[in-house]
Amino acid sequence: MAASYTSPLAEQLAPGLLERFLRYVRVDTQSSRDSGTQPSTPGQLELGRLLVEELLELGLSDAAIDDGGYVMATLPANGPDAERAPVVGLIAHVDVSPDAPAAGVEPLVHRDYDGGPIALPRGGTVLAPAAMPELRAVVGHDLVTSSGDTLLGADDKAGVAEVMSAVAHLVANPELPRPTLRIGFTVDEEIGQGGIHFDVERFGARCAYTLDGSELGELQDETFTAAEAVLTIDGIEVHPGFATGKMVNAARLAAQVLAALPSETLTPETTSGREGFIHPHEVDATPARAQVTFIVRDFEDELLERHVALLRTTVEEVLAREPRASWSLDVHAQYPNMRDHLRDVPEVVARAEAALRAEGIEPVRTPIRGGTDGSLLSARGLPTPNLFTGGHEYHSVREWASLQEMAAAAATVVRLAGEWAGGPR
Ligand SMILES: [Zn+2]
Repeated sequence: MAASYTSPLAEQLAPGLLERFLRYVRVDTQSSRDSGTQPSTPGQLELGRLLVEELLELGLSDAAIDDGGYVMATLPANGPDAERAPVVGLIAHVDVSPDAPAAGVEPLVHRDYDGGPIALPRGGTVLAPAAMPELRAVVGHDLVTSSGDTLLGADDKAGVAEVMSAVAHLVANPELPRPTLRIGFTVDEEIGQGGIHFDVERFGARCAYTLDGSELGELQDETFTAAEAVLTIDGIEVHPGFATGKMVNAARLAAQVLAALPSETLTPETTSGREGFIHPHEVDATPARAQVTFIVRDFEDELLERHVALLRTTVEEVLAREPRASWSLDVHAQYPNMRDHLRDVPEVVARAEAALRAEGIEPVRTPIRGGTDGSLLSARGLPTPNLFTGGHEYHSVREWASLQEMAAAAATVVRLAGEWAGGPR
């Protein structure tokens, strides 16, 4: 076995996995926040149909894509205790982020990475170990990147390819015990819609795993709890030449609100680990009307409420100085921390830990500073922690993936099937 692989199984899975991954990343599946359709873009349906074809070829005869773009399929149980084993789901999302160019992805494979900077042919993009310490851990690995002017799409096509490769391996090796596996490929995860339209009942699994993490060994059962707040300020628009004593500039008031919010703390750029933040990420402003969209994040509901209260008091204080302006602050919940929903079913995380260890990987239990499909799915009754994929630098043209880490993830899924095949503990 080549030293960089976690197991002979991972090494065996790697060639087929790479082939699938390179095929999937070439399909433009970028989701869109400005679309009224379901799914938000037609490219997601294109990849979904391709996956259905491949699942049917593997013999998963019920593989189908629904009108919303969700792909579901069943791999029936095998082995002496198969009848007693619960149904387990495997989930990945087909869309890629709208935050970087994603059309015309041309993946490049860099064999046996030497540890130096990787200059990509387009866009002046360089992957430098000085700026990306994760590269130091993958010297000797085979890395996949884009050509430099698009994202790669490892988020989450690495996850899709890993699920497909694990399923193909289980089909080809019927002597390996497995529970009934339900495969689910979702759409529009990157715009926060993936878990909303997912038919949990039809999926029919007792629990599931998303393959949508990053670093080798990640097993995540905690996400942010998340809210969005939209501040709308109405000012008084007057011709600037005749505005003396009359104009009330909503844009200026919005700027004062932003300036009054904490900037040395409670921001994405000044927090880490388990700290939350208030993040204004879109401003649209004229003197007549200003709209500021904030995302508010924490790991504790109580602290999230405190951040929202701080935002509200700040807005009130600033706008109290200009009673001629009117304003509203609309706050709504986006997704909950999955931790509280996984607490009652400890075997879901325990078996994933056992599968990782069986693959020779020490589990890395970091809370996700974001959400996954599993955040909403867990709250909707399908406990769904998240596993690593081996992709890195997501949502950027510097995105890269390690084939060895991807193969480790696919091998972990094969072992996870074995862990569940023995029936309930
Ligand atoms: Zn993702």
